[in-house]
Order: sequence, then C-alpha cells, then structure tokens
Amino acid sequence: MSNMITEQCFNCGVCERMCPAGGISRGEETFVIDPARCTECVGFHHVQQCARVCPIDCCVIDPNNAETEAVLFERAQGVHSGSAGALVLGPETSHFQADDRTLGSALKRVGRRINQALQGPSSRASA
Ligand code: SF4
Ligand code: SF4
Repeated sequence: MSNMITEQCFNCGVCERMCPAGGISRGEETFVIDPARCTECVGFHHVQQCARVCPIDCCVIDPNNAETEAVLFERAQGVHSGSAGALVLGPETSHFQADDRTLGSALKRVGRRINQALQGPSSRASA
C-alpha cells in the first residue's frame, strides 16, 4: 500500500518536507502522495513519516493499493538508486517488522495499560 492524503488536508506542508522518497507534492486542492514513489517509508523508517507529523492524521494507508514489503523495498532502492546498497530492511526501517523495540510500539503499550487502568479490573481480565 502507499499512503494517501484525505480531503481534510489543510495544506500545512509539513509532510512534504519529511518524506524520504520525495513522494508528496502540492495538488490542486490538497497535498497529494505519488503512489509510484511512496514506499510507506520502508527502507528508511519504521513509521510512515507523513502520518507521524500530520497534525490532523490525514495521511493514511490507502486501502485500495495493497503492496508487499518486498515491492516497497525495491521501490525504495529505485528511489535512492545512487545509495540503494546502503538501505537496510529491518525493525528500524520497516513498519512490517517494527516490534516492541520501537518507541511507537512502546507508547502504544503504555496507552493500552492506561486505558485498562481507567476501565478497571474487568478489562484487564478480558485483555
Ligand atoms: S509513507 Fe513515507 S514514503 Fe510514503 S508519502 Fe508518507 S513519508 Fe513519503
Ligand atoms: S501534514 Fe497533513 S495537513 Fe499538512 S499538508 Fe500534509 S497531509 Fe495536509
């Protein structure tokens, strides 16, 4: 899948500067993502950078454009053909492999625990 930008985008431009693949540009109405360049940040980061920085969470996975990690990594190598050999696939550079070592996962774990604590003992029993 590549990411996509929803119509809620208010054109702040933050995501464009963060994309390692140069896949985001200003469109007619909103910023847009080029699916031919988007790698879901595979090969670069374990979290999609546009989604990470968008203040209103309107950079999302495109459910109609599913792609495998292998395809996305190959694209990353093409996008950075000059330094393709330096790209590494692993937990720090692919959301497909990101695990509990990553900060995002750790924060999600803390969030789940806070939710469970707020909801009381019954939620812990069923979690
Ligand atoms: S997911 Fe990554 S590569 Fe794709 S548009 Fe967003 S920042 Fe760029
Ligand atoms: S960060 Fe979000 S609101 Fe800002 S330009 Fe990108 S998609 Fe639009």
